[in-house]
Amino acid sequence: MDVIREFDPWDGEMCTCPDKYSLNPYTGCGHRCIYCYATYIPNFFEPRRKKDIVDRVEKDLQKIPKGSLISLSNSSDPYLPMDKEHKDTRECLKVLKEHEMRVLIVTKGVHVERDIDILKEMDAAVTVSICTLKEEIKEKLEPNTPSGQERLDLVETLAEEDIPVGVRFDPIFPKVTEEEIPTVVEEVSERGAEHIVSSTFKARGDSWKRFKLAFPDVAKELEELYFEEGKKIDNSYYLPREMRMNILKKVAKECEEYEISFATCREGLPALTTSKSCDGSHLINSKYSIER
Ligand code: SF4
Repeated sequence: MDVIREFDPWDGEMCTCPDKYSLNPYTGCGHRCIYCYATYIPNFFEPRRKKDIVDRVEKDLQKIPKGSLISLSNSSDPYLPMDKEHKDTRECLKVLKEHEMRVLIVTKGVHVERDIDILKEMDAAVTVSICTLKEEIKEKLEPNTPSGQERLDLVETLAEEDIPVGVRFDPIFPKVTEEEIPTVVEEVSERGAEHIVSSTFKARGDSWKRFKLAFPDVAKELEELYFEEGKKIDNSYYLPREMRMNILKKVAKECEEYEISFATCREGLPALTTSKSCDGSHLINSKYSIER
């Protein structure tokens, strides 16, 4: 396999994702989220096209059974600004549709709306990533992304167009975005999101440096919690379990109130999950039988 890979986040013990493949139409990502976990890829924040991406996808698809789950994208965003011009993601979707794949889109890029016509004709769901609705915080956390309001509008448009839609409310930062939990869940559920997947911020060497630069006072308060009282799992520093549980319980409770499903991502807290999948792939209405 060349550009479609089995999804395997660092062979992590905490991952609860269903078996799936991952396809990143672009290499790298220009959204520059300070918490990004994919920055081990060289020149990551300088996104670039993949040569002959459509032919390579086509070739890889010969080796995968129809109805396989393919996630776009896990290490980059399929709807980067450059995709408006190049449309590589749209071209990949056309081939995935021909091969009757099930597709889960994960994005912060609102021009996914352009591809609603194709998504409607295939087994697909979209999870819109939202980690704050406050512009001043978004500017620090995810400087080059569309606003929270634009992403809420996207959730609403997708729901109105009958594209199953969930939200990645992820990651949640104690003392920065934690207080937004009730507002985010209320807003996205009222716009038509059917599922939320959340996790707390896990610090890695470079993401912690970026966080510290953006929020020096909060970083000082959290440092001991992450690096002394918390735990290192799969190369990430986690907050103490009880603290993570308390934060994510708040999201779970709000989801219950608004009657949408909830799951955690790489937290080791399965008791909080109320859905068949963590990543939102259960939202996809399968028209095709899986051959494996
Ligand atoms: S959108 Fe995802 S891949 Fe892109 S910088 Fe942000 S966290 Fe990293």
